Amino acid sequence: LPQAGPGVTPVRVMTVAGSDSGGGAGIQADMRTFAMLGLHACVAVTAVTVQNSTGVTGIQEIDPAVVAAQMHSVVPDIGVCAVKTGMLASDPIITAIAEAATQLGIGGDTGVPLVVDPVCASMHGDPLLASDALGALTERLMPLATVVTPNLDEVRLLTGIDVVDGASQRAAAAALRESGARWALVKGGHLRGSEHSPDILYDGREFLEFPGRRIDTPHDHGAGDTLAAAITGALGHGYRVPDAVAFAKRWVTRGLAAAYPLGAGHGPVNPLW
Ligand code: PLP
Repeated sequence: LPQAGPGVTPVRVMTVAGSDSGGGAGIQADMRTFAMLGLHACVAVTAVTVQNSTGVTGIQEIDPAVVAAQMHSVVPDIGVCAVKTGMLASDPIITAIAEAATQLGIGGDTGVPLVVDPVCASMHGDPLLASDALGALTERLMPLATVVTPNLDEVRLLTGIDVVDGASQRAAAAALRESGARWALVKGGHLRGSEHSPDILYDGREFLEFPGRRIDTPHDHGAGDTLAAAITGALGHGYRVPDAVAFAKRWVTRGLAAAYPLGAGHGPVNPLW
């Protein structure tokens, strides 16, 4: 991947996501991966979470108009080659982002690639998306998505499908595609009892399987964010979606293998190593 250099404007990407005060997930995870991939990262903050290694104890949502204004400020001036959404907190914030994305040429069939990581809760179970916001996510944002990257808990919330094996994982990918996302990546990482954790990528024609080595570590905070950020970064660099996913899988596997303990809870994945 080409790196930024003196006097050379690097590829720009944007993350539309929440801040993690503990520095493990959210915007902070995205920025680490983007920096490592030689990208200039722009940010639209959706929420400030009060969070450490043991969980989330507070959330301050950003005014939806301010979320949209951050996008309107950055995109025409700096320009972005790919955009990622993470924690979006509420229906009004999602609605504002979807409107801004449409106006700014982000996502859809002709816009810059849009990776929608449908973050619903932290791994501790702290809600990061209002329960009444799922409709806005599926009806307004997913139709704009180039790729949607749910884990199995998010799949259940978005499609009602309980993924227990490869067949239900494929059915979930097909259901997600029907919400309008061009590609659905159903991550298998939370599939219990399986030695491997294949992710399934589907574009409506072909199911692609990405086998993964399961890394047994309690320090996996921000793994989902890091995977989606690496996909976004690779798309920004011009990769095709399947190649971006293959790259991102390796990226997050390496980050999990190099994860470190932090505080009394779960440490972050460490793609810097
Ligand atoms: N905090 C923020 C701001 C996030 O965006 C996310 C995930 O996207 C999390 C926390 C949860 O991360 P994890 O499930 O790895 O704890």
